[in-house]
Amino acid sequence: MTTTPGDKFSYKIELHIHLDGAIRSETILDISKTKGRPIISVDDDGQETVITDQESLDKEIVITTPCSLKLFLHAFNVFMPIIAGDRDAVFRIAYEFCEDCAKSGIRYVEARYNPHLLANTLDKPAYARERGDFSPRDVVITVCDALDKGSRDFNITVNSILCCMTHQPDWSAEIVSLCKEFKDRGVVAIDSAGQDFEPGKDPLLCGHKKAFKEAYDNGIHRTVHAGENGPSEGVREALDHMYAERIGHGYHVTDDPELYSRCKEDGVHFEICPLSSIITGACPEDIMKHPLIRFADEGVNFSLNTDDPIILNNALADDYVLANKMGLSDEQIINSIFNAARASFATEEQKKKMLQDLVNVYGEH
Ligand SMILES: [Zn+2]
Repeated sequence: MTTTPGDKFSYKIELHIHLDGAIRSETILDISKTKGRPIISVDDDGQETVITDQESLDKEIVITTPCSLKLFLHAFNVFMPIIAGDRDAVFRIAYEFCEDCAKSGIRYVEARYNPHLLANTLDKPAYARERGDFSPRDVVITVCDALDKGSRDFNITVNSILCCMTHQPDWSAEIVSLCKEFKDRGVVAIDSAGQDFEPGKDPLLCGHKKAFKEAYDNGIHRTVHAGENGPSEGVREALDHMYAERIGHGYHVTDDPELYSRCKEDGVHFEICPLSSIITGACPEDIMKHPLIRFADEGVNFSLNTDDPIILNNALADDYVLANKMGLSDEQIINSIFNAARASFATEEQKKKMLQDLVNVYGEH
């Protein structure tokens, strides 16, 4: 992760960051070497290349120009097999995550991940190269332990969010039950991530919707990736059928004026990821056409976030700088940090302290 010189914002909050998208690439290399687990990149023709140095690894996984979802998935296919299925590796990335956030001036963060992707007990493990006994539940315990220790050692508050995957609705029941079981260990919410779905028509979403209803009934907070590359209707679906309190991305909500006004009036919180939105092609390359500008000018409730720093090579300060380049003032960015605190899924006590700290740093907002 990079640090930005002249960073003006000493107290940051991050609500939308994927734990498995925020690994240090040095750690991938180190684990590969110490565990004798080669980093393999497979190209479109099935040709395998073994990666042994930092430069080649970064070339495979860091994406700096607008690209397809395919390239994003390729990056995960390169580094996830080094971590998945390995308890020590999962502990290490979650612990280092806390250190990296603290170094970037983040004082409160919600780390999201799907435990199944890091486990190795499934019939066909998603990324792990072999089957073993590291279950999704063990992954959650390991991450909670690491985040606990990291929070204490680096003086930062870290909660976590468990993600359902749109292409794996059969995992969703277990996700919501893990949210319930680990509520007292900082698991604060459920999310839906993965490929875009066709709103209203996708039968795969049934398992998902049931899980979100159960989350709602049990006082588990809800956020949903929607309206990123997919249509505005996804945002409506998330609000009306998945009890979403926050929307991950949601840029395309502006395509539907009625829905957009409703979100504005209801104060629906949008987790905006400026750099990510351009690199994934969700928003135009011309930054002056970015919906964030409209959100800021029209008083939409939003926060600024990094999404996947290992791929985007960004720190939160870089996204603030990008927002500045779009024309957002420092005041508007500070407002977004207050909004992040208010929209966070922190406990009442954590939230109260966060808002008091923010007032001490930036004054009343
Ligand atoms: Zn995301």
